[in-house]
This record gives sequence, structure tokens and C-alpha cells, in this order.
Amino acid sequence: MAEYIISPDSAKKSAHAEDTAPGEDSLSVCELFVDAVQGEGAYSGCPAIFLRLSGCHLKCSWCDTADVWNKVTGIPVSRLLGMFKEKGLVQRLENGHHLVVTGGSPLLQQDALTEFLMSLHDICARKPFIEVENECCIAVSRKNDALWELVGCWNNSPKLGHSGIPKERRYRPEAIEQMRQAREAWFKFVVNGEEDWPEICADFIDSGLITVSQIILMPQGQTREELSPEKKERILDMAVRHNARYGGRLHIDIYDNRKGV
Ligand code: SF4
Repeated sequence: MAEYIISPDSAKKSAHAEDTAPGEDSLSVCELFVDAVQGEGAYSGCPAIFLRLSGCHLKCSWCDTADVWNKVTGIPVSRLLGMFKEKGLVQRLENGHHLVVTGGSPLLQQDALTEFLMSLHDICARKPFIEVENECCIAVSRKNDALWELVGCWNNSPKLGHSGIPKERRYRPEAIEQMRQAREAWFKFVVNGEEDWPEICADFIDSGLITVSQIILMPQGQTREELSPEKKERILDMAVRHNARYGGRLHIDIYDNRKGV
């Protein structure tokens, strides 16, 4: 059963207490929970710790994590590391649980994130497996080159036209190209149906940014009802037809739209 270490509600209450404002040495956190499961992507089903960072520069029409926009605790990196030690999170990482850094837009805080992940590596007896969920609009700066070694898997999720975001804000070829070259990088596209394929083809495949073998197609939907068996079957057929992977949303299949799982 997943358990909160920092919940969005406690984040809101403590935002002006002992916590510092987010900055170079602190992270702006929305929630931290353990004993959960990675519900999407290549590592779907893996036991996981979720660190959700606050702040996002997009506002997708179907976003299911709106809490990231208004629930914030600024936590010094040293204090967050202390939580990882005291609450048994380091032990879980050493036992093989993944750390999934998600958002929001985690790379908005890439300086502090790099510092945190480097220190986390130092206190773990075994190299932790770290996944980063990334909306793929922000490039990693040279200053944070260490992220390429620290992060085991980049789960990129470039947004398509149906997100409601103007293309000039959501489509950043330089950030996509950089991610394509990471050791392990997937590109998850949330799709409604076959009508989304021409856009994926034109902007990502035909343009030479990524290859079909890096693509995971995921049905759009935030509840079990929206992710009906018919819809899942339609997207699965679409993926097979285009030689791409199909990716489900395990946490919705099991928990519906419950948070913190
Ligand atoms: S990028 Fe992700 S967190 Fe940001 S608005 Fe879109 S779905 Fe929500």
C-alpha cells in the first residue's frame, strides 16, 4: 500500500513554515510517496518511490496532475536526503525500487535536481535506478551533464496538438534531439486515435528526431471509464499497425483516478 512522506496537502500547509523557498540548493516538491508502482512506460509494474516536483510551464487540457501547479514545499536538498535516510527510502532503492522523478516539469529545477541525485548516489550502497518523466520542452544544460549518468531512463512525453498548447510552446526539436541520444529514452505519446498519427509522423519520425522503436502509444484518459476496453484495443491496434509499442496505464487499471498510488 503506497504511503505519503510528503502529501500535496501537507506541502501546502508547510510552504511558509520551516521550509525554504525553492532555489539552487532546494527543490520545490509537490508530493513524495513510497511503496507505489510505476504505472507507465517500459518499467511499468516496477515498485517505485515517486518524487513529484512542483511547477510546469505547460497546461495541457487533460492534465491529471494539476496539484503540481499550486501545492509547493521548498525543501533544502540536505533535508530531503535526510528524509530518504530516516524513512527507509534509501533502503528501498538499494532493494531495487525505482525512484521516479515526475512533475510538472522536473527539468525546470535541473540544478537542484542534479545536486540531489548526485548526493543520493553517494549515500546508496547500490546505484539507484532513476526514471525521469519529462515533457521534453527543456534541454539539459552543460552544467548538469551529470544527469546523463545519474538517470537510468528518460520517459519523455512530448505533447501533441490535442493538448491545447500552442505548438511553439510544446514542440522543442533541440530538447527532443538531445533526449534521443540518452542511454535509455522513450517517447510516450498520449493519443486519442489514428487521427494523431500524422502529427507524430511529420513532427517526430519523418523529421528524423526519433525512431519508431522509441515510441510508446498510450491511450488518453484519466479514469477507468475513459480508458474503456474498446479504447485500449483501438490504440493497441494502432500501435501494432505502426510498428510502435503500446503502453497501458497500470495505476488507472488498478486504482482508477486515486492519487498517491
Ligand atoms: S506537461 Fe504534464 S504536468 Fe504539465 S500540464 Fe501537461 S500533463 Fe500536466
